[in-house]
Amino acid sequence: MNSLAQPPSGGAPRPRRSRPFSASGRPLGGAGGKRPFRSGPRGPSHGASRAPASHGSSHGPSRGPARGPSRSGGHGSRRGGPHSRMPQQRAEHRHIREANAETVTLPPLGPDTVRIIPLGGVEEVGRNMTLVETDAGIIVVDAGFQFVSEESAPGVDYILPNVRYLEDNKDRIIGLFITHGHLDHIGGIPYVIDHMGNPPIYTQYLTSLMIKKRQEEFAHLPALDLKVVEPGGTVLAGRPDGPKVTVKTFPVTHSIPDSMGVSIVTKHGNIVISGDLKLEHVDGIATPKEKENWGNLGKDKNIMFIADSTNAEKDGFSIPESRVYETIEGIIKNVKGRLIIGTFASQFERMVHIIRMAEKYGKKIVTEGRSIKTNIEIAQRANIFTPQPGTFIDAQDIGDYPADKIVVIATGAQGEESAALMRIATKKHKYITFTERDTIVLSSSVIPGNEISVQKLKDNLLRYGLNLMHYRSSDVHSTGHGNTGELIWMREQVNPNFFMPAYGYHSMLRYHATAQNNAGFPKERTIISDNGMVIEVTNGTELNIRKEKLPSGPMMVDGFTIGDMQEVVIRDRQALASDGMFVIIATVNLRTGTLKKSPDIISRGFIYLRESQTLLSEARLLVKKNVEDMASGMNPVDLEYIKANLTDTVERYLFQKTNKRPMVIPVLIGV
Ligand SMILES: [Zn+2]
Repeated sequence: MNSLAQPPSGGAPRPRRSRPFSASGRPLGGAGGKRPFRSGPRGPSHGASRAPASHGSSHGPSRGPARGPSRSGGHGSRRGGPHSRMPQQRAEHRHIREANAETVTLPPLGPDTVRIIPLGGVEEVGRNMTLVETDAGIIVVDAGFQFVSEESAPGVDYILPNVRYLEDNKDRIIGLFITHGHLDHIGGIPYVIDHMGNPPIYTQYLTSLMIKKRQEEFAHLPALDLKVVEPGGTVLAGRPDGPKVTVKTFPVTHSIPDSMGVSIVTKHGNIVISGDLKLEHVDGIATPKEKENWGNLGKDKNIMFIADSTNAEKDGFSIPESRVYETIEGIIKNVKGRLIIGTFASQFERMVHIIRMAEKYGKKIVTEGRSIKTNIEIAQRANIFTPQPGTFIDAQDIGDYPADKIVVIATGAQGEESAALMRIATKKHKYITFTERDTIVLSSSVIPGNEISVQKLKDNLLRYGLNLMHYRSSDVHSTGHGNTGELIWMREQVNPNFFMPAYGYHSMLRYHATAQNNAGFPKERTIISDNGMVIEVTNGTELNIRKEKLPSGPMMVDGFTIGDMQEVVIRDRQALASDGMFVIIATVNLRTGTLKKSPDIISRGFIYLRESQTLLSEARLLVKKNVEDMASGMNPVDLEYIKANLTDTVERYLFQKTNKRPMVIPVLIGV
């Protein structure tokens, strides 16, 4: 999917937000835990587990402090209770705990059985990874990541497929095949390749360049063993001394060149994995090239077809890119003033088309945005196009040319705050300012979840009184993913025994399955999977879904830390984001058990303290009474015990008074 092909800053981890609640938070007082915090292992403090990227500090319980199910007694279960305002946390909670499951060992495979395991990408859009395992070894297809929403995992940069099983079986991995260069298919490589034992990576040329480019940001990692596959090429994969597996590749149409699908040859037939794709067609009739490619696939005996579901909620056939090309050419030719086109940097072919059309009509190109500049560079290196000399000009020279000779290609069509379009729209760009004579084309669709930021962008742009065109107003964008008409046609060509929709949220898989079933493919041979599901087919026809499920919870990339066990950190962030924090600082005389003075209270993101003096003074009295009552019978005074109780009491009080549950952090200093 294209949305994932454009990281906020070209793939590097986002800059860290400030963290007022730093390492001092956790050790100080069982932040928000119902139980006294000494009653269970807490794990490392927030900042304590920093490790270089992709040398994850923790991959499973065996690598770090024990974090069993008992952790659910912390913040998570409380917030999931009757007062919960974030119902999605329950599901999230379950999900993350699954990640901590024990290692799953699957029995060795006989020669007649093939095992298919989606590790990511069948419960979400992003973090795609599919395993095909035979007695000869494991072939992995794609290693993507997914951006996460601020709500479900505040501060987390990306989530990755859970590679525990691969780590446990790295000796059996014989190759990683990458279908194309979008980040939901390549983004995870720097983080997981080491854990997979650095197997060879097979992919086509452009994809190999994109993987290399990305790897440059991870200079400490060993060099990748990249093997370039020719379009339609066949690979005999395997380590030099080990068994080999034949993998046929086939070219597919997507929004980035050098996209391919793979067909993994096993004893009783092939497992065909589509990658992201659509169909090149004219009014619903596949082009001769597509007919040839897919016809060849159908000549093999195919056990299973695993296919892209991204657009499976749409019937019929998608708008062909050629129509978008015509529309864009028309605009470039006829526009009166400056033309600014916002698009995805990952839309290689479209960018190249825009550049060619600009050249055809004697216009200059200004590129704005790092990812666009990078990808244009890569496209030239891959010989996808060669610009005429003088086509590209710098933004600062824009004034040297008449307005109708300028085409700006810019990032930020999704309304990203820091991307070029928004920067220009909010007058933060040094050389470019919009005027009412400009025409802006948003050559992209709105990615679900980005509606509000795109709305903001449109409002900002239209304040200039300029002319704005987007995919709803004309054919300036087409998707890279086929509608059901295309998907059904492809499945018919492959003619598999089993069909498995992939690449999408559960609902998308359902729509895809229903469409295929309505088109005649039997329901009982359709598999709607979950991440970690172990599917086996024996003799090419006997299906068995194993009882065991592989660890599949998301592994998170959080700054320099990666791991699957940051539940407590995420939960704290969610709590802080929704209800803020409330810190009590009190000095306790350890001999008498009395407070030296009235306790100090610091709060952030909870309520406005200056206007809550009554609450504050009541809280102070409550703290004083609570601490002194508890301490009076103790000798020596046990501050830890008092803290735990104080947390409970203050939480209850604040909830009564405000209907909010800030994270309460008592700091008791004994003197
Ligand atoms: Zn894609």
